Amino acid sequence: MLKVDSLPVVVVGGGAAGFMAAITAAEAGVEGVEIWEATAEPLAKVRISGGGRCNVTHACWDPSELVAHYPRGQRPLRGPFSRFAAGDAVAWFAERGVELVEENDGRMFPVTNSSATVVAALRAAAHRAGVKLQSQRALQEVTPSTDGFLLQARGMSEPIRCRRLLLATGGHPSGRRIAAALGHQVVPPVPSLFTLRLDAPWLTALAGLSQAPVDLELQVGSERFRQREGTVLITHWGLSGPGLLRLTAFAARTLQQHSYKAELRINWCGGLDTEQLQVQFAVARQELARRQLGNGRPELLLPMRRRLWLALLKQAGLDVNRTWAELPRRGEQRLAGLLLRTELPVIGRGPFGEEFVTAGGVDLGEVNMATMESRYVSGLHFAGELVDVDGVTGGFNFQHCWSSGWIAGGAIASALACKR
Ligand SMILES: Cc1cc2nc3c(=O)[nH]c(=O)nc-3n(C[C@H](O)[C@H](O)[C@H](O)COP(=O)(O)OP(=O)(O)OC[C@H]3O[C@@H](n4cnc5c(N)ncnc54)[C@H](O)[C@@H]3O)c2cc1C
Repeated sequence: MLKVDSLPVVVVGGGAAGFMAAITAAEAGVEGVEIWEATAEPLAKVRISGGGRCNVTHACWDPSELVAHYPRGQRPLRGPFSRFAAGDAVAWFAERGVELVEENDGRMFPVTNSSATVVAALRAAAHRAGVKLQSQRALQEVTPSTDGFLLQARGMSEPIRCRRLLLATGGHPSGRRIAAALGHQVVPPVPSLFTLRLDAPWLTALAGLSQAPVDLELQVGSERFRQREGTVLITHWGLSGPGLLRLTAFAARTLQQHSYKAELRINWCGGLDTEQLQVQFAVARQELARRQLGNGRPELLLPMRRRLWLALLKQAGLDVNRTWAELPRRGEQRLAGLLLRTELPVIGRGPFGEEFVTAGGVDLGEVNMATMESRYVSGLHFAGELVDVDGVTGGFNFQHCWSSGWIAGGAIASALACKR
């Protein structure tokens, strides 16, 4: 192993990104890598992630497809993902004893179905590589010096000197404050991946019902956001589900600027247009002529849950006991209008889904994505949620942590002239 004089590399933040960076640097031969973690529990978010199962990454193997899942960071991530993407993360964890398995929707979890496996593997890998973990050590101030940085931590009488500094403080304000004090632009943080509160008692009465495929369109001021053929979950406050969370992730900043007031348009028959629906109605009038509206549906509307179908009939002012033969033309038009475009007022942000991330952070224009090093402060690196990157739900946020941490750790090792 090559020894990098007496000054350690300090990784601030014992989360997913910090651990990946520290392990990568130490495995490449850097001695004296330390992780400073403010709390008593490193990797706390990994532990609670994915409902305690940890959705480590997503089975999306092509880097150019992978970037499409990041509302912020899409273009700049092309480079990093061409070097370390989902397949690399799967192999990286397999080499350290964590086998990941894919679910139907592409999310990947440890085969044990427990985040504790991931936490244990990261801690063990760090320990094996010689990384020193300093818990309850919160960085407060950084002063650049001629050959590195002076770090002042809470409760420490003397500052500590290090040659390379990696900030991986997640969504915590302290990291953003320190980055700004070092001259970086910080894009103001706003929440991402939240549900929507709707003023629609007839719909929220169906709480617990999930529906797919559904097309969503969100009109926020003059901006429009679309999400095709997703799954939504009706809740007692409005709407949730992967399709809706993806929509709010892309609209996060605009929604915040409009105080979370918007109009949501839902096509409950995702993929169907007016003409196709008219054909369905014509067929139903013939084939289901004697069936009551509430009890018979055209074939392409069968994926719709019956409770939702009944609620839509009622909203269209139709008597569910009437037969298809008795369906008035005007009533058919009202029903088609609702099926293809239910318009609902968004009155606020609902609670967060299983995953919560912050959009915003250190401006990517000021970071060299090949090394995750600051373009202004030599020796200063960033990784993880602290930078202005966030992904939709499904394992994409951790994937960014693994990729940026791996790149930063490797770059630190190269800069300190260690082998990779
Ligand atoms: C409930 C929940 C579930 C989630 N589930 C998933 C999931 O299944 N899959 C997925 O991809 N994403 C998930 N996410 C998102 C994911 O957890 C984050 O994107 C990821 O943890 C960010 O990692 P990070 O290392 O950048 O930051 P963090 O994990 O937040 O780690 C940063 C660390 O830095 C420490 N710190 C902060 N400031 C200082 C300081 N000044 N000095 C020292 N230490 C400091 C913090 O205490 C923290 O431990 C979930 C998020 C939540 C909240």
